[in-house]
Amino acid sequence: MAKIIDGKAVAVKIREEARTRTAALQARGVRPCLAVVLAGEDPASLSYVAAKEKALAGAGMASREFRLPAGVAEAELLGVINALNADETVHGILVQLPLPSGIREKTVISAVDPAKDVDGFHPVSVGNMVLGGKGFLPCTPHGVLVLLREEGIPTDGARVVILGRSNIVGKPLACLLSRREVNATVTLCHTGTRNPGLYTREADILIAAAGRPGLVSAGMVKEGAAVIDVGVNRLADPGSKKGYRLSGDVDYGPVAEKAGWITPVPGGVGPMTVAMLLLNVVQAAEDAANAADAGAGARAAAVRYD
Ligand code: NAP
Repeated sequence: MAKIIDGKAVAVKIREEARTRTAALQARGVRPCLAVVLAGEDPASLSYVAAKEKALAGAGMASREFRLPAGVAEAELLGVINALNADETVHGILVQLPLPSGIREKTVISAVDPAKDVDGFHPVSVGNMVLGGKGFLPCTPHGVLVLLREEGIPTDGARVVILGRSNIVGKPLACLLSRREVNATVTLCHTGTRNPGLYTREADILIAAAGRPGLVSAGMVKEGAAVIDVGVNRLADPGSKKGYRLSGDVDYGPVAEKAGWITPVPGGVGPMTVAMLLLNVVQAAEDAANAADAGAGARAAAVRYD
């Protein structure tokens, strides 16, 4: 029977770190602040945004929400982002995806100042991730990496198979896991992969990020493997209060019988995504405060030695 990975517990530790670093910044007169831009009324997006704002408040950080109608013009949305880029009291900008149809996601993401790109989706952030430069890492893939590390799941020389190649989960995960310090050998599967079970059955670590409930059956999993379920799917459940229940991509019960480790949904990767966002926001605020102090120091030095 698999060990259940408690993402909530690991996330609590990270949120505590964010809270400590926030307190240190507040002592310097800076309160980290995230601006959340939300276009439209997608119910899942509304609940994600609410969870992020609650977590920020819990760590002592501020958030400001900018809600725009689903029919907002792209130019107006870009105007909001430009104003937030220029606002020194805003340290991070999060544009909640997906955006309404008719708005170009790449254009909007590229409009965010990379210094405030706490989602890690800007091309500059992605470039730094690939090249190993300084920049924000995307929250969900980074959260998965931290979960593996905190659980002591060996990655050095491990075979990792990822189901899903999106820009926000699968591709960055493949990049991070193949870094030298992680040292895994990664296979990325997608809808064009013939017989994915051939690959998944060889995986020491199997990561499902496809958004397909029930995709990973016990027959696709190697005995003792670590199974990380990134998927979040809303399944209709008229008997429940909300009318739906959440399910991952993994057939949890039978897979848990066979795997060595498994993440539940909810309570696995999801809490880590929010926790890593908090760390990115506090990092952005620290960078801004340090740059301001360095600027002030440089000005003071100029006055002294002139
Ligand atoms: P996405 O953009 O829809 O990408 C899904 C990927 O899965 C695509 O690359 C697709 O392949 C691949 N795929 C679909 N069916 C497949 C199959 N049968 N076999 C192999 N690959 C398959 O989704 P996403 O944004 O990456 O999100 C994936 C899931 O993670 C969703 O359930 C989402 O809600 C969840 N998620 C959770 C968190 C969290 O914090 N827990 C964060 C982000 C996302 P093609 O490229 O060939 O189409």
